[in-house]
Amino acid sequence: MVKVLYNGDIKEEVLQGKKIAVIGYGSQGHAHALNLKESGFDVVVGLREGKSWDKAVEDGLDVRPVAEATAAADVVMVLLPDEMQPKVYEESIKANLQAGNALVFAHGFNIHFSQIVAPADVDVFLVAPKGPGHLVRRTYTEGAGVPALYAVYQDYTGQARDVALAYAKGIGSARAGVLETTFQEETETDLFGEQAVLCGGATALIKAGFETLVEAGYQPEVAYFECLHELKLIVDLLYEGGLENMRYSISDTAQWGDFVSGPRVVNEDTKARMKEVLKDIQTGKFAQGWILENQTNRPQFNAINRAENNHQIEVVGRELRALMPFIKKPVNAKKEVVVN
Ligand code: NDP
Ligand code: MG
Ligand code: MG
Repeated sequence: MVKVLYNGDIKEEVLQGKKIAVIGYGSQGHAHALNLKESGFDVVVGLREGKSWDKAVEDGLDVRPVAEATAAADVVMVLLPDEMQPKVYEESIKANLQAGNALVFAHGFNIHFSQIVAPADVDVFLVAPKGPGHLVRRTYTEGAGVPALYAVYQDYTGQARDVALAYAKGIGSARAGVLETTFQEETETDLFGEQAVLCGGATALIKAGFETLVEAGYQPEVAYFECLHELKLIVDLLYEGGLENMRYSISDTAQWGDFVSGPRVVNEDTKARMKEVLKDIQTGKFAQGWILENQTNRPQFNAINRAENNHQIEVVGRELRALMPFIKKPVNAKKEVVVN
């Protein structure tokens, strides 16, 4: 098994006395800034004026424009949306980096696909929590943490690995486990996971199941409970104890159906298509499409998003959830469900 590092394996001294600029205060940004501050590190938040700026000030943080925060810091963590990062980097970060600084990311996309090319005299590494930002924050306040990957792309100072580990410890991830990867592996597996399984795969499976039942004449409300609502309960069992634990809790009838019908739905054909998805990620085809989509103001993204939000499962779901007040509304409904 690969070496997983925990709090006891990591020294944080290398990050003490350094100023950390957290650029962005969204899902990941608010979690990193608050966790690092509460872990005793010196944090400044870099933003433009607006909603996030006001929130970070309200949370008691030192907030400055991106250029100023970068200039003041030794370690600059870029937690802006991936598609905004190249522009903000060129306009406000690049000129304010000094030799020996660290340029840090939570996802390898822009470095791996050459959208940001860092100067040779800075360290470049990533610390990528494997969970949504709101959980990075919530678990930290509960004394736990979200596991993280780290990777060093460029080690100018010779200290990049130690600083990355200290950073991971500071956000609470070393309570859960920190392991080493590369920018290539993090970027490609992260994109594949969200496309084929976690987001794309899961939503396509849910919709196909719902549509199959409704088209066969069953009530949409029953189909919603069966194909979407109950999935959370099953996923909780998977999360706690793997496939065996989930199968232990379900009926033997369900388990038999799992064995004989699951592989009929997700089969060798599905796997062949997963391999095509992975290939598009590895060759940069997916990245190129997404970069172009953003450069043209997201015509397809917006059209698909509108259609998806009007799908029957969403209309029925909104009505049913309104009648289940015990279902907790996420603090920020959009970001709480984002998997990156
Ligand atoms: P969000 O979309 O939640 O955060 C956006 C933040 O960036 C907001 O504070 C926003 O401020 C600010 N911002 C946007 N544009 C600008 C700008 N031009 N100048 C200054 N500030 C700006 O991002 P995420 O936290 O989702 O993602 C950040 C990084 O973390 C990405 O690299 C992502 O891949 C990675 N990641 C995300 C995960 C997640 O849970 N979401 C999980 C693991 C990695 P304003 O209010 O002014 O718009
Ligand atoms: Mg991810
Ligand atoms: Mg992602």
